[in-house]
Amino acid sequence: MANRRLLISFAHPDDESFGLGAAIGKWVEEGVEVYLICATNGDVGTVPESMKDKYSSVAELRLSELHCANKVLKFKEMFLLGYRDSGMMGSETSKHPESLWTQWETNPEKVTRDVTRVIRQIRPHVVVTFNKYGGYGHPDHIAIQRATEKAFECANDSQFDVDGLAPYRPQKLYYNSFPKITLQMRIWHTRLKGQDPRRMGRNHDIDMVKILDHIEPVHTRIPISDYMDIWEASSICHESQGGGRITRTAKWLQNILYTKQGFTRVYPVPDRDIVDEDSVFAGVMVD
Ligand SMILES: [Zn+2]
Repeated sequence: MANRRLLISFAHPDDESFGLGAAIGKWVEEGVEVYLICATNGDVGTVPESMKDKYSSVAELRLSELHCANKVLKFKEMFLLGYRDSGMMGSETSKHPESLWTQWETNPEKVTRDVTRVIRQIRPHVVVTFNKYGGYGHPDHIAIQRATEKAFECANDSQFDVDGLAPYRPQKLYYNSFPKITLQMRIWHTRLKGQDPRRMGRNHDIDMVKILDHIEPVHTRIPISDYMDIWEASSICHESQGGGRITRTAKWLQNILYTKQGFTRVYPVPDRDIVDEDSVFAGVMVD
């Protein structure tokens, strides 16, 4: 029997490790072929000055960190689409003609085509991307979510030609999710420290209250507590982005916050918004 195949469609070097490091570790250990789309090179990420010396650009540094993470996570293959990182919504960098956000705004068919090409090449049973808010409102996350959802449909459309590749329809589409309770606790803790949960992150541009408002229903929860080491090891690779945050959380809190990874099932559309799966491969027919 062929292996189960899963495609993760994300935007930056680090999204895979910070967001799904434990889940990827679990899937790969279980024999799933996990593929990654990383749509941008992370060009405009904030990077400590001391780390820039060895590299000709921030993009080169970020991609080297992604290759480090790949050694831990063991993707079957990574597809680097090479778009320019947009930075935050409304910033000058998001208006750069090569940025993923501008490319999506001006030429959505091109981005859709790039994702469709990967889907038709690897023929994944399951596709995972960001939620509609792009997790925390990052324009590149939103762009790749929209392109992936569109590509999920187009991949099976014989009229949508991409290099003569045969049409193919994956069986399931998911958004990765973040536990509500974790966010609520963080917001509470942030306020307790006298900080503003609407102005978090290095650049004070992450609004945790808005993230909470945009959380979508979870239909699938997969146990990940046995994969904390992989999660941590892959996150540490992204040192320039503050990697290695899991072990900075107290062990007792890790056991509350990080036992399950949730997913929103987009296709097939759930009858009801309840957790009814413990695997994204539930009900999947493997060729
Ligand atoms: Zn990102």
